[in-house]
Amino acid sequence: MPKPAVSEVWDRANESNFFKLLSAETLVVVLIGPGGVGKGTVARRLLELDSRLWLSRSWTTREPRPTESGNEYFFVTREVFDDAISRDFFCEWADFHGNLYGTPRPHPPHGRDVVLEIEVVGARQVRERDAHAVIFLLTAPTMELLEKRLRGRGDHEEHIARRLESTRHEVENGRELADFEVVNDDVERASREILSILEGLRQSRRIPS
Ligand code: 5GP
Repeated sequence: MPKPAVSEVWDRANESNFFKLLSAETLVVVLIGPGGVGKGTVARRLLELDSRLWLSRSWTTREPRPTESGNEYFFVTREVFDDAISRDFFCEWADFHGNLYGTPRPHPPHGRDVVLEIEVVGARQVRERDAHAVIFLLTAPTMELLEKRLRGRGDHEEHIARRLESTRHEVENGRELADFEVVNDDVERASREILSILEGLRQSRRIPS
């Protein structure tokens, strides 16, 4: 899949007004957790269950996987990503296993809350920018299950080994940072647990539903 050039990207960015700031009531919900834990699946289920949620689409320099359709990320070259960093385009970005991943400053439709599905270094930056961001650490019931999920995604064997190694780092650092830990033993159950926590937070912050 060809990646767009710098000028093309900025034409699109300007059209869609990427730089609009979030309103004070907007809840920023961050999902972190090791690769293969099911963050993407849980994020999609959260969006189906709660129409107030809006999922941010990340940028990455990694190549799309054979199993991906191309909509999972905005796939860009390193040149485009570096240019975006220099323009302060991202609200957070990180290097994960040699590829760059970043969240554009979010611009959700009015009244919607933002969901970010990111790794722990980026989540720390989000927390620094927005002290009210709510961070959920998703964990797997067992390591065996995590390994099985990683293999099912069609990653190369060496990537799987590296990602399993970084699991401990993601979980240990995630536990320090996260407000809530949710075990993804079942997507439906885990998603509903997150939604019930969000509902409580909205009530306590008097955010109109
Ligand atoms: P993957 O290559 O498996 O899609 O993603 C690798 C890791 O990068 C995952 O932990 C994923 O959650 C994280 N990630 C995805 N998008 C972003 C982003 O915009 N920022 C950061 N910091 N991490 C991201």
